[in-house]
Amino acid sequence: MAFGDITHPVAVGIVPGAGPALPVIAGLPDDLFASDGQITKRPIRALTLSALAPRAGETLWDIGAGSGSIGIEWLLAHPANGALAIEADPVRAERARANAARLGVDRLEVIEGRAPEIWPDAPPPDAVFIGGGLSEDLLLALWSRLPVGTRLVANAVTLESESLLTRWHGRKGGALLRVELADAAPIGARHGWKARYPVVQWSVAL
Ligand code: SAH
Repeated sequence: MAFGDITHPVAVGIVPGAGPALPVIAGLPDDLFASDGQITKRPIRALTLSALAPRAGETLWDIGAGSGSIGIEWLLAHPANGALAIEADPVRAERARANAARLGVDRLEVIEGRAPEIWPDAPPPDAVFIGGGLSEDLLLALWSRLPVGTRLVANAVTLESESLLTRWHGRKGGALLRVELADAAPIGARHGWKARYPVVQWSVAL
């Protein structure tokens, strides 16, 4: 599917013949988002949006936004939704803005900098996603600065991040989910399961 020729039923209304329509369920194809490889891949993105559970009119902070894919899919879920992305890398921040614009949700606000040193001067969100920059300091900042009840979803791939989430899960509760996926890949003339890195996902209310 080529970039620049995209319609989304929610973003633009269903216009027959106006280009390829995108699925309305979260977990869009990875290649719809320009990236340098740092992107939450489709199956994990679908699970992440499901855990974030956007409702009409809600706002998300997407911390460590990378390509912006999570914030963008949050916005695509409903025209009244808002999203603010924080991304440390300026090139990725600009790419996230461009991805949002191309997918019809240029209302994604992207702030450049490292959380929690950089903190949005904005009303508190309904939900927060941590896709990068997970640290003790970031979790402490979220708990001290955001309202009780704010939904938080954090994904970890490294052992260090996983152990942080495990400790915080012990303190705060919530749900810890480990996702192991494998893709069929060639082994000579046959196929075998090629494992992806496991992802540990923590969902909790502040
Ligand atoms: N969810 C993203 C992928 C995240 S990759 C997507 O689907 O595209 C992790 C990102 O976190 C990287 O782009 C990295 O630059 C960013 N990052 C790491 N530490 C950060 C911090 N402290 N604050 C903001 N962004 C950070």
